[in-house]
Amino acid sequence: MEHQYDVVIVGAGLSGLRAAIELGEGTRVAVLSKVFATRSHSGAAQGGIGAALGNEEEDNWEWHMFDTVKGSDYLGDQDAIAIMCQDAPKIVYELEHMGVPFNRTPEGRIAQRAFGGHTSNFGKAAVKRACYAADRTGRVILDTLWEKCLQRHVQFFDEFQMLSLIVKDGRCCGLTAYELATGKIHVFNSKAVLLATGGAGKVFKTTSNAMASTGDGMAIAYRAGAPLEDMEFIQFHPTGIYKLGILISEAARGEGGILLNSEGERFMERYAPTIKDLAPRDMVSRCILKEVRAGRGIGGKDYVHLDLTHLGAEVIGQKLVEIIEFAKTYGGVDARKEPIPVQPTCHYMMGGIAADAAGHVVLDDKKTPFPGLYAAGECACVSVHGANRLGCNSLLDTLVFGRRSGIEIRKFIHAHGLCTIPDDLEDLEAAKIRYLMEKDGTEKLGPILQEMQTVMMNNVSVFRHKETLDEALQAIRALKERFHDIGVHDKGSCFNRELLDVLELRHMLDLAEVMTLGALHREESRGAHSREDFPERDDQRFLAHTMVRYEEQAEPLLFTKPVNITRFEPKERKY
Ligand SMILES: Cc1cc2nc3c(=O)[nH]c(=O)nc-3n(C[C@H](O)[C@H](O)[C@H](O)COP(=O)(O)OP(=O)(O)OC[C@H]3O[C@@H](n4cnc5c(N)ncnc54)[C@H](O)[C@@H]3O)c2cc1C
Repeated sequence: MEHQYDVVIVGAGLSGLRAAIELGEGTRVAVLSKVFATRSHSGAAQGGIGAALGNEEEDNWEWHMFDTVKGSDYLGDQDAIAIMCQDAPKIVYELEHMGVPFNRTPEGRIAQRAFGGHTSNFGKAAVKRACYAADRTGRVILDTLWEKCLQRHVQFFDEFQMLSLIVKDGRCCGLTAYELATGKIHVFNSKAVLLATGGAGKVFKTTSNAMASTGDGMAIAYRAGAPLEDMEFIQFHPTGIYKLGILISEAARGEGGILLNSEGERFMERYAPTIKDLAPRDMVSRCILKEVRAGRGIGGKDYVHLDLTHLGAEVIGQKLVEIIEFAKTYGGVDARKEPIPVQPTCHYMMGGIAADAAGHVVLDDKKTPFPGLYAAGECACVSVHGANRLGCNSLLDTLVFGRRSGIEIRKFIHAHGLCTIPDDLEDLEAAKIRYLMEKDGTEKLGPILQEMQTVMMNNVSVFRHKETLDEALQAIRALKERFHDIGVHDKGSCFNRELLDVLELRHMLDLAEVMTLGALHREESRGAHSREDFPERDDQRFLAHTMVRYEEQAEPLLFTKPVNITRFEPKERKY
């Protein structure tokens, strides 16, 4: 079946929906999502969205910019970070006017709380910058944006999974998708495509991410010729529930929660004397693992305690309701009375599809745009987070650059018509799916998936080393070989989960390879990328973005792109 639209947006998280709102009036917009729109992972965001409103204490966007640059370990592009931090207050007030029910100060202003790495006066002390709605901030923003999209007659295709991009003479002309309920192939011919497909936490065994965070957009764009940027930078959030990885928001520490080792010591005081438990995530995750390695994990095991017991019923009742429930349901602890066992969990991709601050997907180090193709949100690398993202800067990123992509796409579709696309695309995609379903594969999905997740968790997570990275690369390449022999045993066409998982696994194997290659290439430690064999940051050799391009018959091609430094020169990062 063929559809024609001005714009197709893939992804119904905050970035996709914010772009759709910008484009909605007078434009034919379709939003595709492989899960029902409001089940997108954005809805799981707990803690807040960053903006220097200064409602609780003095603040300004330049301090926010400084913190973001320093948090990024000086790898973030400062022109884009300036845009994000300046746009932030406007974006939050806009949400307020749309009806997002933020918590309030006693005077009725939007309430704000402290978050890791956010400081006042260029690093002097922690500052309250995260705007929040209890610990359901993502949920309420997502629902509000979705309603706005419905009002603007945005057309939703829920439970449609993108399969490939249509590229003709170097321009993106639409995409093909699989309808989960029927197994039918759909061809979307559009003037422009925005990828807003979110993260890829599922590449790792322990993650806070949703089942759908399998990096499809990144992998599909990569195969279509768009380079991926800084894929070695993967954030491990310090406080996932022990063994499960389900997130306990940084808001818990923002409200006064503290981390304790087996000796009952508040160990972060030793590592980050100024902001202690509110140090950035890369640091806190490393510190937890250092405590564990020094034998100070709880009961000699690989976790520490997050203690909220001193916060009091009011703070917990008004601001941390959901995480108290999570701790009870998944961790079996009553966090009002006992500490929560926590360990680092894969949380966020700083890297992604190389894009600029207007949303264009870019092809090279000169930022040449890929005509008709845009990316925003977690699947994109603009790069505002550099080597490490600060908490509450991602919701901000999705909305700032979702909006800006919408504005830019509007210009593009006014200047360009639809492409003439081949009429056999539906048959070609259907044949590929049929081949996958009909061949007698000797390999199974489960073992390949688990082996990939385990090797990535063991070898490519918080601490890395050449030897173990080499091992990981070999293992991933062997899994890619085995993937060729994979079989799909479920032959059905209605919600065939096995087939979809196989398609997603292929994407994740590509990404795992690129992440590992990037990590091997970067012989230094910066932000979330910590090489035990190269413990120092090396600005001489590595103050540059890692770019990786897919090559049909050869190894992926690595090259670099300069970092944009406008204001804050790299310094040693201390908190
Ligand atoms: C548990 C948790 C808590 C978080 N808390 C915070 C927080 O408090 N503050 C903060 O700033 N950040 C937070 N983050 C990070 C932030 O929520 C995400 O980075 C952000 O919401 C991502 O939004 P997105 O629009 O890029 O994509 P997502 O919200 O992840 O949505 C991706 C969309 O793409 C669609 N999609 C993917 N692949 C396909 C395909 N092949 N075909 C069709 N559709 C597809 C999905 O269906 C979905 O609609 C949190 C993340 C997690 C996991």
